[in-house]
Amino acid sequence: MERQNLDPQEIWQAAKGALQLQMTRANFDEWVKDARLLTAEENSFIVGVPNFYVRDWLQARLHPMIKRTLEGIVGHAVELRYTVQQKPHRTKELAPGPNMLWPDNGGSDKLPQGIVLNPRYTFERFIVGSGNRMAHAAALAIAERPGYTYNPLFLHGGVGLGKTHLLQAVGHEAMRRGYKILYVSSETFTNDLINAIRTQSTAAFRERYRTVDVLLIDDIQFIAGKETTQEEFFHTFNTLYAANKQICITSDRHPREMVSLQERLVSRFQGGILTDVRPPDYETRLAILRARAGDVQIPFPEEVLDFVARKVETNIRELEGAFNRLVAHARLDKAPLAVEVAAEILRDIAPVIPTVIDPAQLIRVVARHYSLSEDDLKGPSRSRQIVTARHIAMFLLREETSLSLPQIGQLLGGRDHTTVMHGYNKIKNALLQDSALQHQIMRIQQILQQRVPAME
Ligand code: ADP
Ligand code: MG
Repeated sequence: MERQNLDPQEIWQAAKGALQLQMTRANFDEWVKDARLLTAEENSFIVGVPNFYVRDWLQARLHPMIKRTLEGIVGHAVELRYTVQQKPHRTKELAPGPNMLWPDNGGSDKLPQGIVLNPRYTFERFIVGSGNRMAHAAALAIAERPGYTYNPLFLHGGVGLGKTHLLQAVGHEAMRRGYKILYVSSETFTNDLINAIRTQSTAAFRERYRTVDVLLIDDIQFIAGKETTQEEFFHTFNTLYAANKQICITSDRHPREMVSLQERLVSRFQGGILTDVRPPDYETRLAILRARAGDVQIPFPEEVLDFVARKVETNIRELEGAFNRLVAHARLDKAPLAVEVAAEILRDIAPVIPTVIDPAQLIRVVARHYSLSEDDLKGPSRSRQIVTARHIAMFLLREETSLSLPQIGQLLGGRDHTTVMHGYNKIKNALLQDSALQHQIMRIQQILQQRVPAME
């Protein structure tokens, strides 16, 4: 969808709105809030930021997200650059924001201060479903009684499935109960350690990491191959463990699958509870979308949420990304999104799941494809050609819509569900060998998804 008629400043504001939803408050305030659109010509945007530090950070860390967000709004590829626009009256401390990975800052002696958890990553806002039920239960048990139930908790699973969210939820809950917590990524741990060694402040480093009640280490896989870090982490682990302090770890893989991880760490990681998070099922995805729609206080038609939940299947981060694009549009349009519009906005998201297909339309398309009438398909004729077309309609109705077998039978002239099942199986089996049939079915599917015009 082209949106060239929009005022570039409005586009940028919408992009900032969408970014705000994708980032922690602290990060947004630190990096994006003060960024201003300087010029926009054709598809090229130039954004002004207060200093070189922010510019480099945006370029190095946030560029893909910002670009993607902008493109989601304008509906086509854009070029995006950042430039420093000095504002001498507003001096800002050039320190990284809280809760960020500590960047290579070449020279700073300080350890990162003020660990701030993402305020959204709480148990209350975590939707429990089939893929994460175990992980959630274990995390909750630990947050309520750190150090006593399972130690360590080792949570693993693919990207965007809620590991960081759960880990931080443990942090929020334990903190609420008065425990001292520390949340870091394993990269931060490594960088802190390197800085401590360089500045001869390992005592302070140990003080920091070994005096907490709950140590939360995110993305431990990054310590693979780093011998010094593993050594230090092993001792940190043992000290905490011996003192009944809780250790929680996330990883993108099972400890056994981590190459170049010392065997003694592998066995420590398996000594408590080990659980995985798996991709969300449809119900979980829909529940997450409903919750997010409630957060942003924009009314989304149920069918739009259903559409997104069906389309984005693999991970929750992408689900949220897709949803945020719709939010940005809804804010601009100031009207509830139609499902067709949502489909258009999200059309570049793979895999392309067929848009909701109207069963009546499907029957029409099949009839026309075989030069028959709809009544032929619905009627009693047993002619070979008509029977085959009818079976194809049954097959496609079952594959392409969510209708039940009896409902399909009803639509095709009141046939019963065993007849529909029989027709469906006939086509399914025939498809295994009959390439002409494969071709026809594919063609009809394409017409249904409106990727090619119907043949007259
Ligand atoms: P991971 O660390 O596994 O890559 P994250 O914890 O960063 O994934 O989750 C990605 C996004 O999805 C976050 O915004 C998070 O809040 C959200 N999310 C993940 N799982 C859930 C859930 N079960 N309920 C609500 N939001 C979730
Ligand atoms: Mg994570």
